[in-house]
Amino acid sequence: MYYFIEEFEGHSLHQLMDLVDKNNREILEEYINCLEDNELIFWCNEEETKLFPKMKKKWASPSLISNAIIEFNHNYTYDIAMIELNELGCSYFQLRLGSIDLDVIACFTQFLAKLIQHCPNLNMFEVLLPHHSEVMDEMFLNSINKYVQLRCVTFYNHTIDLQTTVDSLCIKHRVDNLNNSQEKSAVSFSSFFLNSEFFFESRLRNPYYNGKVTIDIEGNIKNTINDMESFGNICSDTIISAINKPHFKTLWYSSKDQIEGCQNCEFRYICFDTRPIVFDQINNIYKSTTPCNYDPYTARWNLSTLKSHSELV
Ligand code: SF4
Repeated sequence: MYYFIEEFEGHSLHQLMDLVDKNNREILEEYINCLEDNELIFWCNEEETKLFPKMKKKWASPSLISNAIIEFNHNYTYDIAMIELNELGCSYFQLRLGSIDLDVIACFTQFLAKLIQHCPNLNMFEVLLPHHSEVMDEMFLNSINKYVQLRCVTFYNHTIDLQTTVDSLCIKHRVDNLNNSQEKSAVSFSSFFLNSEFFFESRLRNPYYNGKVTIDIEGNIKNTINDMESFGNICSDTIISAINKPHFKTLWYSSKDQIEGCQNCEFRYICFDTRPIVFDQINNIYKSTTPCNYDPYTARWNLSTLKSHSELV
């Protein structure tokens, strides 16, 4: 169907019918009926077709850094890093806490006040932390839920899997620990993003790594938290100097077309997966260290690990 649409784009129905012989006319009608029944096409006159110019297959972003993950350490100050990230265009933050007590909650609320002050480009942020106790979790939530930019709080290592939404804030309880829940392949259709920006970015870049910077618990500046390689430390280096180091941006360009398996997957331009990848020098291809839940060669999901959409969103 894809090749059919690409080949005959811009043709009128009359032209299409003229192009095929009698034997194929029935098949052509079947194709067109299928597209129309599924509301993938509609009829318009030649003049109206000019209102639908071809989309440019381009992707560009004004931000050098679009998203940051910070493992919060209450012994560090993040002011300079926040100012820099804002200047680089960072609009999304994921903040991770290793544990909470009253001191950490106090330090973290101060951190958030500075984040709002230093980062006017901030669009949204989410927080991940281990479940402590119902009372302490509640206290933590009450200390931070005043920020409209806060979209999600996840309590991992919880006793139950539960998701609630209060106004625009999503509160998740997860039995999984952070590592299990954060690095995963596409798990179901919920891992897919159906929008043109994501699609065109994915043709050129890896949407998980692209524009991302992480600061681990010791202040190391990395591509992802679990990476061994550090490109600097916020105590002694600027973020711009770290991301300008050779190789920092290498994974940004590891598009799905260059990843074994994904390159043959029909979902490759809409799929968001966070598995670590390594470059195989011998075969000149990126490989993921964990298999995907979806097998593009049989077009089947691994049902033993497939979870429902509502659990995963
Ligand atoms: S194989 Fe397909 S579904 Fe799985 S991670 Fe790659 S692109 Fe996504």
